[in-house]
Amino acid sequence: PEEMTVGELAARLHLTASEVIKRLMTLGVMASISDTIDYDTAAMVAMEIGAKVEKEVVVTIEDRLFQVENEDDDSTLVERPPIVVVMGHVDHGKTSLLDAIRNTNVTEGEAGGITQHIGAYQVMVNDRPVTFLDTPGHAAFTSMRARGAQVTDIAVIVVAADDGIMPQTVEAINHAKAAGVSIIVAINKMDKPHANPDKVMQELTEYELVPEAWGGDVPCMPVSAKTGNGIPDLLEMIQLVADTSELKANPDRMARGTVIEAKLDKGRGPVATILVQTGTLHAGDAVIAGSTFGRVRVMLNDRGERVEEAGPSTPVEITGLDDVPEAGDVLNAVEDERLAKELVEQRKHEQKEAQFSAYEKVTLDNLFSHI
Ligand code: GDP
Ligand code: MG
Repeated sequence: PEEMTVGELAARLHLTASEVIKRLMTLGVMASISDTIDYDTAAMVAMEIGAKVEKEVVVTIEDRLFQVENEDDDSTLVERPPIVVVMGHVDHGKTSLLDAIRNTNVTEGEAGGITQHIGAYQVMVNDRPVTFLDTPGHAAFTSMRARGAQVTDIAVIVVAADDGIMPQTVEAINHAKAAGVSIIVAINKMDKPHANPDKVMQELTEYELVPEAWGGDVPCMPVSAKTGNGIPDLLEMIQLVADTSELKANPDRMARGTVIEAKLDKGRGPVATILVQTGTLHAGDAVIAGSTFGRVRVMLNDRGERVEEAGPSTPVEITGLDDVPEAGDVLNAVEDERLAKELVEQRKHEQKEAQFSAYEKVTLDNLFSHI
């Protein structure tokens, strides 16, 4: 449209009509609330106050959380464990490999006793922890990435030595590349008579993954999830790659993490697995996660043991949220529960507004766009 009324302009700019009328007067235009004004005049008024309007309208939840969060000074950063995802074609051995890795740490007495599944677990490699996402397949990885959650540092791409690169292997390679994470290839099923690791490595080069053994930068580790052969070497390689990446976080601040999985438990209410990414999460902390909030009631580690705190790269299962968050939701610890509630209310409000597309930044570009 070429024109609008003074009243419409005022509404659009979140001003009272008399404020707009005053501004028009300073521009030499005398108009009342129901008078129409042309685009140029409206734009002049909008331009004059444009900056102010944007500021008022768009103090989003992210802005507010950012203020809560602050930047971390380099001096506060300390080494954190790598977070690893296992991907690959169906039946190439993702689940078996994750099980085999988990079992490397199980001591005699515990054998078979650890069946706790919280969506992520840690194993010790040379006395230093490595965190694995226990949800094989790309679905979790991609849905989390689609939601903006960058959780992992290293992708282990499993390729069966008797099968070679298959469509979902290619998908996994593409996802890992797009996410910018380090890639390690586990050439699995080496125990099989028809295992052909050279063929796998040859095929990898077709996807610009050149094995280290051939002068490239992609570690290719022969393993058997069935016999356990090669698993310790794979774990050491993961740690080596992590070391060169210098993964760091500040443990001395309020926690931020990502929801790995969540469900409603009949007895315990909403239960969520959180992978803490920075800061330390404590039992009792007030938190928001997506559009849920609460206070961390009980916190369990990946062995089902109760813990009071969880630092960077540590997966924990928490109760105490008022509702079930979604995988990929970001969790933030905040000052107190009152603020948590307020932030979640604002977030819900923003989501609702966005849903009905009634919420728009007022800019010169869209000032006239949908009247
Ligand atoms: P996923 O679909 O990638 O999770 O694959 P699974 O872990 O479910 O494994 C698919 C099949 O391959 C199962 O029958 C496993 O027992 C078998 N398998 C996995 N790893 C190995 C291995 O290293 N050697 C042999 N011989 N079989 C394996
Ligand atoms: Mg599986």
